Amino acid sequence: MRDEVSSLSERKHRDIPPETFKDYGRKAVDWIADYLENMNQYPVLARTRPGELKARIPKAPPGGAEPLERIMDDFKEIILPGITHWNHPRFFAYFSITSSYPGIIGEMLSSALNVNAMLWKTSPSATELEEVVTDWVRQMVDLPDQFRGVINDSASVSSLCALAAARENAGLNVREKGLAGENLPKLCIYTSEEAHSSIEKAAIVLGIGQSGVRKIPTDEAFRMNIKLLTQILEEDIHQGIKPVCIIPTIGTTSTTSIDPVEDIADLCKKHKIWLHVDAAYGGSAATVQEKRPLFKGWEAADSIVINPHKWLFTPIDCSILYCKHPEVLRQAFSLTPEYLRTSEADTVTNLMDYGVSLGRRFRALKLWIIVRAFGTERIANIIREHMSYAKRLEGIIQTAPNFELLAPVPFSTLVFRLVKPHTDEAELNVLNEKLMESANKTGQVFLSHTKLRGKFGIRLTIGNIKTTWEDVALAWNIIQQTAMELSNMRR
Ligand code: PLP
Repeated sequence: MRDEVSSLSERKHRDIPPETFKDYGRKAVDWIADYLENMNQYPVLARTRPGELKARIPKAPPGGAEPLERIMDDFKEIILPGITHWNHPRFFAYFSITSSYPGIIGEMLSSALNVNAMLWKTSPSATELEEVVTDWVRQMVDLPDQFRGVINDSASVSSLCALAAARENAGLNVREKGLAGENLPKLCIYTSEEAHSSIEKAAIVLGIGQSGVRKIPTDEAFRMNIKLLTQILEEDIHQGIKPVCIIPTIGTTSTTSIDPVEDIADLCKKHKIWLHVDAAYGGSAATVQEKRPLFKGWEAADSIVINPHKWLFTPIDCSILYCKHPEVLRQAFSLTPEYLRTSEADTVTNLMDYGVSLGRRFRALKLWIIVRAFGTERIANIIREHMSYAKRLEGIIQTAPNFELLAPVPFSTLVFRLVKPHTDEAELNVLNEKLMESANKTGQVFLSHTKLRGKFGIRLTIGNIKTTWEDVALAWNIIQQTAMELSNMRR
């Protein structure tokens, strides 16, 4: 009896006391709300020098327990200065992603439940909610109901899984025989020179190799050149090469260009090739009805990736892979050792069968809370507003005498540069890089860059839930002001 009592009290002291958790949990929530409401007091881009944080944290872990109060203080004093604030309304770099209060609540609850949604049985709600909420998003972006969604951590993993399914679908039995299988032809995938690097990485992982990635040149608007694609594909087929997949992008990373998906879909149909659409960024814009024409043809895809963690106000990570043939995805990945066998396997979805990882977080919960707390109309309206700010800035840049746009603006991302008469391209590149870095140094904005046909372009992308036109206008003022200062310095 005494043993039982002591083991009970011992157990009680393993975790921190619930009262302490409640106290610090409340403090953490208060801190989060204050942090998100007072973003302007932080420089968007961290000003930390390499090694600065490591120098301030003991190399060895503490032997004894430390009070939460001290840990929270260190979080604020040591960790926070080294944070680049992705939630800042003037974070305009890369793709501007954002969390939201409902999403944060979802993350809190999901870590409290700490379920592993590998099997239906290991948390029926996690599996079924993932099925339901990915179908909600499917309806929000107006895709046909044959598409089934699975949530991965990233678009890189979603596309890797899609390409593995495409390889399986090619009927080469690579799953069983590997790439050393008898008489295997050379495998190729087709994408544009503007495709995201995750596609090439997937080819590396899947044994297709970098030489198996045909990067089709793009036209003046950075869209895959369909004529060249057709020519290269048909030549490859003639040479005995096996095309595995064609991957157009709706919203490429550099310029958000849109490949001619409808024409590519016809080509896929003609040659019976898997069509995977990378809409990791652009996909969310299909929630806006008047933007749907930009997505023409994607309904014919075999698989599509959309990242709610890019533009659906979902804290990272959350990427949805939609697939019209979940049985092929299953064929590529299902492998059930004895210890994971369940009696209801034939009647339910076991999510471990549809991707690489066995263990999986309950990501559907945050997405479900976000869609319910905002409603589909508000979500579409925020995205619509982001795109309207981009259009407004596009108009301003078009008439600014010393700036030029380097690409069309179909969504909410602008690529532009400062121009100067009698200045060669190399000099302009240096000047624009300086301009971007100087603007970023103000701490008021964070912009990133790309290179288009050798030209250094400054990228400004709008996607944060709190960004207003005033933030965009302030960014433009800073850019203009900085450009003027640079010009004066050079005189
Ligand atoms: N596809 C496109 C078009 C992207 O822009 C990105 C990232 O920006 C990705 C894929 C990769 O996304 P993730 O970071 O989720 O792997």
